[in-house]
Amino acid sequence: MIIVMEHNATIDQLNRVIKYIEDRGLKTQVNNGELLNVVAVIGDKSILNDESIAALDGVREVKKIQEPYKLVSRVAHPEDTIIKFPNGVKLGGLERPVLMVGPCSVEKDFEGLLKVAQAAKDMGCQFLRGGAFKPRTSPYDFQGLEEKGLQYLARAREKTGLLVVTEVMDTMDISLLCKYADVLQVGARNMQNFKLLKALGRIKKPVMIKRGPAATIKEFLLAAEYVVANGNPNVIFCERGVKGFDTHFTRNVLDIAAVPIIRKFSHLPIIVDPSHGTGKRYLIEPMGKAALVAGSHGLMFEVHHDPDNAMCDGAQSLNIEQFKEIAKSFNKLIGRIDYDNKNNK
Ligand code: PEP
Ligand code: MN
Repeated sequence: MIIVMEHNATIDQLNRVIKYIEDRGLKTQVNNGELLNVVAVIGDKSILNDESIAALDGVREVKKIQEPYKLVSRVAHPEDTIIKFPNGVKLGGLERPVLMVGPCSVEKDFEGLLKVAQAAKDMGCQFLRGGAFKPRTSPYDFQGLEEKGLQYLARAREKTGLLVVTEVMDTMDISLLCKYADVLQVGARNMQNFKLLKALGRIKKPVMIKRGPAATIKEFLLAAEYVVANGNPNVIFCERGVKGFDTHFTRNVLDIAAVPIIRKFSHLPIIVDPSHGTGKRYLIEPMGKAALVAGSHGLMFEVHHDPDNAMCDGAQSLNIEQFKEIAKSFNKLIGRIDYDNKNNK
């Protein structure tokens, strides 16, 4: 349930509404909009009498929303959420789309990571991605460098100024990750790890949730709802493809329509990962462009200094030269840099 206040409602009237709800054992979350305030009610609404609430002074409208994802819904929060990072980078709304690039996993060759990070910086990217804790299908595959990998990411950040995105797999690692990461990524396999999502609701760092390989968009929205309902409003969606029946040409089916759908139903930002979404290097550019045209707030894709010898996902990783060419075309598309105009940096 959403309670929309009149544009000229007083603070006392707003507080009275909040008290009315909370006195009945339910929680509230207030969204202070530019024009009016909206109170979202969290908990079992069956004990509330809508008409009594509608009659309270300063209340314009009581709306029942059917969707269970009320906090991430646009109904509760009509304006886009824009996530602001300490270095001034902004993600969401009408901000220019961001680029997150880096290897699948952080490997023991720090110089290799740095080459990728420097190329990313040169091409105007804002984020360096790389897994230090890796969710691998086989227990015999490389599992990640763990804290050493996080230290490498932090060193690369020191040298380039890029923000760090890295995966969290377990609640036990959250405080360690918070020491190093700027964005904590929830991998596709953990999209419905509810204990992890709840714990990430109790931190302040932004959380990026990747869509589960078999998750519906509603389940995707509800995963974000878990984080926001537990106190962390800074959530980013990441579409990375879902399982299809044809794996001959692509690893997953990248659901580009999820972008405008999420943007219609939620105020939170969404980015797209065409690397995992297709599993093929040659599809990153066309699918990345398609995502940007569809309204994606950014792209994440894998870049490795030596893809043929990568410990993980080499086949879908771009090498540095390929990355630079593709980054150029993305930058042109989003109007960040006009390469034909020498004065435009
Ligand atoms: C990744 O981004 O490194 C990753 C493991 O992706 P996903 O969780 O989408 O499979
Ligand atoms: Mn990968």
